[in-house]
Amino acid sequence: MTIPVRQTNDRQTSALKLPLLGFAAYSGTGKTTLLEALLPKLTAAGLRVGVLKHAHHHFDVDKPGKDSYRLRKAGASQMLIASRNRHALMTETPDAEAEFDYLLTRFDHQQLDLILVEGCKNIAFPKIELRRAAVGKPWLYPNDSNIIAVAADEKIESELPQLNINDLQAISQFVLDYAHEFHAASKPASSQPASCDTLSPAFLSVTEGVEKILSAVHPISDTEMLAVEASYGRVLSDAIESPINVPAYRNSAMDGYAIRSEDVGLEQFEVMCEVLAGHGYPQPLQAGQAVKIMTGAPVPAGADTVIMREQAKQDGQFVAFADAVIKAGQNVRQAGEDLAQGQSVFLPGQRIQSAEMGMIASLGMTTVPVYRRLKVALFSTGDEVQAPGTETNGHSIYDSNRYTLMGLLQQLNCEVIDFGIIEDDEILMMDTLVQAAQSADIIMTSGGVSVGDADFIKSALEKLGRIDFWRINMRPGRPLAFGEVDNTPFFGLPGNPVAVMVSFINFVEPAVRKMQGEHDWQPLKVQALASEDLRSRQGRTEFSRGIYHVNHQGQLVVQTTGKQGSGILRSMSEANCLIEIGPAIDTVKVGESVTIIPLQGRI
Ligand code: AMP
Ligand code: MG
Repeated sequence: MTIPVRQTNDRQTSALKLPLLGFAAYSGTGKTTLLEALLPKLTAAGLRVGVLKHAHHHFDVDKPGKDSYRLRKAGASQMLIASRNRHALMTETPDAEAEFDYLLTRFDHQQLDLILVEGCKNIAFPKIELRRAAVGKPWLYPNDSNIIAVAADEKIESELPQLNINDLQAISQFVLDYAHEFHAASKPASSQPASCDTLSPAFLSVTEGVEKILSAVHPISDTEMLAVEASYGRVLSDAIESPINVPAYRNSAMDGYAIRSEDVGLEQFEVMCEVLAGHGYPQPLQAGQAVKIMTGAPVPAGADTVIMREQAKQDGQFVAFADAVIKAGQNVRQAGEDLAQGQSVFLPGQRIQSAEMGMIASLGMTTVPVYRRLKVALFSTGDEVQAPGTETNGHSIYDSNRYTLMGLLQQLNCEVIDFGIIEDDEILMMDTLVQAAQSADIIMTSGGVSVGDADFIKSALEKLGRIDFWRINMRPGRPLAFGEVDNTPFFGLPGNPVAVMVSFINFVEPAVRKMQGEHDWQPLKVQALASEDLRSRQGRTEFSRGIYHVNHQGQLVVQTTGKQGSGILRSMSEANCLIEIGPAIDTVKVGESVTIIPLQGRI
């Protein structure tokens, strides 16, 4: 049983102004008993302590029959019950369990000095491992870098602080010291020791990288009118309102007979004619009359009810509906039922796909206003990179990234302007960048952005525009350059073929979509059960290549493609998803749920 952690964003616990400390142990170790004995010592020392405990999903604090219970069952999605001595907020989460970070925000941080956590073994935050040899379970600390100390009844070979699990005084002193150190360290911000891995401004989380890029790029303004049949994948630049009623006229939802509802009960009806789809019956229907009607055909004036063919018995000129239960108005689609004339159909920013093409055509429109295609100038860099079709010289590699990127850009309906491979030469690089900025909306390169080998791009871009070299706390894809030349955004993607794709998916695609005019696009992320153990490093977002499938129980399960080297492009070809292990998580065990990003339709 685990509490899900929001994996896409960096955890807020790093911003938490309170020390957070967990107790990790197998059941039977006596976690609760120990905490129960510990709390009086901590409160006696003046600490105000909050406790977060994870429980079974059937757990309820309320009791059946109590007023609060009845009100919740009656539909209160949040129930705050308050008395002189305490209050409790119960929040129903029927769709998904609340995330760990979110739960932490529920505490009143002004009123606490420390939060202790019982359970939540797989979530990354500092913990003390509790262990009793008699319980007969393995140690957790060798596989969990979040364990900062152990409290046990035997000694281990480890650098970790060791406490006796039966020595409450020592454990409580450890917790007090931990809390005091946290508060001492967080007081004067300037005196905090800087860790280059977490505090360096050049080290960004995936989320921060995306936010920076999205705030720097803007939708293009040029638009054009396109024939509907040529509009697939484009983005609407203007709203579409329905010029007509859909359906345009009242029509039958069934093959059957149209009658007047006031005639229901008559023994038989005279069949006046047969109305096929695309035709009509010109006269108003009179008392005792029916017309045989096909699905989609207009219902004659006067008629308002259709009885399906299966319930009718026609004999020559006459039809009877012996056993049919007839409701006035049944099986008739009203004019404007789907869309009334003037009603908004699509807003600007809507990407046009198959359903939208059909919808637009159903309104009788032949053209649509869309943003023009986004132009992307693309080139590879590096003296070792050689064009396919040329002879290798033994110490070069073929340029694959430019082709991968062409595919990714075509998938997004961009126009690619191919500048080929640009040698490591500053003058050449500057020429290319100037030309690219003039002809394209985005400039994109791969390679040459790792620290130490960025010289040509860096110096050229510094002369022409602006460039930042970021280290993104992710794998693969750590180096990323982002800047601009003449207001044209520049993306310098890493050289490694897998890193190129993972960086594109995370950073370029959202930017491209925003520039194309799409609003607030979000990638699809779903949860799948891991069918193998997965590891990551705390603070880093790990993207493994994965293969998901639905197992016999109908569950979505995922495994990796195997070796995960960032140069192994084959792994991207075999994968149908990326497995995303967010910064807050460092291990995912078999059977636990993990975030996956399906790649279908994206690469
Ligand atoms: P770099 O980021 O330039 O240090 O490159 C990292 C790795 O990616 C090196 O092994 C490069 O040879 C490789 N690489 C760079 N550019 C390309 C490319 N266009 N196609 C395939 N591999 C590349
Ligand atoms: Mg290089």
